[in-house]
Amino acid sequence: MANVTSYGGASMVTGSCHLVEIRSIKILIDCGMIQGELWQENYKPFGFNPSEIDYLILTHAHTDHIGRVPKLVKEGFRGEIIATEATLDIAYIMLLDSAVLLMEEYETQLRKALRRGDEALVQEPLYTKEHVEQVFAKKRRYAHYDEKIQIAPFLELSFHNAGHIMGSAYLSLFFKEESGEEKRVVFSGDLGSKNRLLLNQLTPLSRANTLFIESTYGDREHRPLKESIEEFKEVIVQTLQEGGNIVIPSFALERTQEILWLLHQMHQEGLLQNCHVFFRQPFSHRSNKNLS
Ligand SMILES: [Zn+2]
Repeated sequence: MANVTSYGGASMVTGSCHLVEIRSIKILIDCGMIQGELWQENYKPFGFNPSEIDYLILTHAHTDHIGRVPKLVKEGFRGEIIATEATLDIAYIMLLDSAVLLMEEYETQLRKALRRGDEALVQEPLYTKEHVEQVFAKKRRYAHYDEKIQIAPFLELSFHNAGHIMGSAYLSLFFKEESGEEKRVVFSGDLGSKNRLLLNQLTPLSRANTLFIESTYGDREHRPLKESIEEFKEVIVQTLQEGGNIVIPSFALERTQEILWLLHQMHQEGLLQNCHVFFRQPFSHRSNKNLS
């Protein structure tokens, strides 16, 4: 029997963190940051003992799925991390950036508190760059899509393309009950929508005994991507025709690549005559040499 307990990502949108216990093995699937109004919850204890976790599986490198991993390590996690190579590469960049932001916030709060004389009340950053480095000094294993990884004689797992962001995966746990019965439990992580610009579509799932599925936007109708692209192009062409300039803020992970790809396509279609494109975003072209 597999026991599953959610410590985030259930009854809330962010902070994805699910503990799966199969016989003696404890697997944590994602360890995300809780975002928005409940942010202070990140400081609370996990609700399980991090030193007892054998494996940490990361489905993808969005902050709401990886943002508490340095805290997990800081609080005693000694197991192995398993994820796709792309997820770990992106996670390194994301978590370092997160540590910088946490430190900046801490320093701002400290300056304000010093003026008030109540600096003792300022919370330490949730984690620092050093804790992030400790994460990537841990034992880790790269998963390849649709290849089985043996965890124990009775337990295997497999990552499949989730089509959400680069390296994203949904996860199959294959295990044998003590009775010998074979089971497959699937955790979806976040799933990509159809017709992504730069990503392959997700791998269809054929069967599962139990399926845990994310449903963040399950109640919404997304308009077709084609319509959004047409509107994007229309706005740019019209603005240029009227002699204007366009500033495109791009905060979401991978959004910059998609915008650059669309602009390239527009250039090839002759829609960007006499238009200079400036790209200013150090975070988007930083490469990760440390993990190669
Ligand atoms: Zn995501």
